[in-house]
Amino acid sequence: MTARVLVVDDLLPNVKLLEARLTAEYFDVLTSTNGPEAIEACKAGLCDIVLLDVMMPGMDGFEVCSRLKADPTTSHIPVVMVTALDQAADRVRGLDSGADDFLTKPVDEVALIARVRSLSRLKVALDELRSRAAASARLGRSDPFVNASAADGRSGRVLLVDDRAASSDRIVSALRGEQTVDVESNPQEALFRAAEQPYDLVIVSLGLSNYDGLRLCSQLRSLERTRSVPLLTVADLDDRAKILRGLDLGVNDYLMRPIDRNELVARVRTQVRRKRYADSLRDNVAQAIEMAVVDGLTGLHNRRYFDMNLSALLDQAAQEGKPLSLLVLDIDFFKRINDTYGHDAGDEILRALAARIRRVVRSVDLVCRLGGEEFVIVMPETPIDVAARVAERVRRSVEAEPFKVSDLATVPVTISIGIADRGVDANPDFIYKSADKALYESKTGGRNRVTLSAA
Ligand code: GH3
Ligand code: MG
Ligand code: MG
Repeated sequence: MTARVLVVDDLLPNVKLLEARLTAEYFDVLTSTNGPEAIEACKAGLCDIVLLDVMMPGMDGFEVCSRLKADPTTSHIPVVMVTALDQAADRVRGLDSGADDFLTKPVDEVALIARVRSLSRLKVALDELRSRAAASARLGRSDPFVNASAADGRSGRVLLVDDRAASSDRIVSALRGEQTVDVESNPQEALFRAAEQPYDLVIVSLGLSNYDGLRLCSQLRSLERTRSVPLLTVADLDDRAKILRGLDLGVNDYLMRPIDRNELVARVRTQVRRKRYADSLRDNVAQAIEMAVVDGLTGLHNRRYFDMNLSALLDQAAQEGKPLSLLVLDIDFFKRINDTYGHDAGDEILRALAARIRRVVRSVDLVCRLGGEEFVIVMPETPIDVAARVAERVRRSVEAEPFKVSDLATVPVTISIGIADRGVDANPDFIYKSADKALYESKTGGRNRVTLSAA
């Protein structure tokens, strides 16, 4: 994953060093030696991530970060504060000014790449959400993630896998008020819990006494239920090889002991945010898919869904040697109904008719609105004579009770139906055309009737 990284530092050698390392990892690098220029570059949309030196003459890093986070055109850009090792207070201030993460000078190469990778994943999810939100806004709909912000990274559910009480106590207390943390000391149990409950993040200690924490990470990554949960490892200083191995296995980020509270808070927030954005994107996609196959007026499946599924249902019936019948149903003189009672009344009738059909057929029957006032019902495991009885029931249920529209009028409605079965070996096109032909005979024969296909 590549990203455009803006490196801001008043000392040119520092800029050059970070630039070289990032370029070696194929990131696009922009540089700046002062705050105001960096802010301009962010406003112009030139970068995805900012690496920001704290100590700069004129406008310092805190000020730059606060300004970026206060401006809605730049607030979504992740900011990594680059601080001196011994300046813990800087990190508190950094977090307060809205920093998304920290790096310590001299900048460690693994830490640098891990930070930038983790935040570029966050930025990708954010950009996608922002463009969807913008599209929704253009269509006049609001989107819960319109104002996606750092606050979205709080109040997450975190599972901490650590068997050293002193260590887990420290992590839990650092995250108190920020996140809800469950502690699990048994790695096998942790896998089970992560699969059972919707955690926003799993933190795994690499210093477990009788178990390789990376094994747990790898299991979490391979299990369907936990594949997308963010993983953060906590490693000892001498565990560099393990940290790298973990990142290769798909671990999202790591923390080094002794744990810096502010680093912990920032890193957990970032992962929780990304998880939430990713979930929201996935829900959006699921919704879009549903919208593509569901008829908006009646809630029935639409023609596309019918086309996609009929041949599979026919194949299945053929394989199992079972019957299958198909009904095509059309409202009689619907144009006249529209002309008399109005188009809205027509819509109400279509909705009510869909509900009536659903009530009469079985749940395994597939009911679709093909368009206009034409519906189709696919009945698996149903011979044509049984389908004819069901069709008759549907026809009668429509005729028997006129449709109430907007409490004003009661509209008598009738429908015509044509039925075909799959015969010995019907293809989708043939069975549909046969039923449609039977429907045409119902229409020409006087409407309000059921006709079986002769084919
Ligand atoms: P027939 O008995 O031969 O089927 O006559 P008909 O009037 O029902 O058939 P025709 O195909 O001539 O007209 C169908 C009408 O259905 C025309 C159109 O205005 C109306 N219609 C199609 N889709 C909708 C819809 O979504 N809402 C409403 N209210 N009317 C629709
Ligand atoms: Mg009609
Ligand atoms: Mg018609």
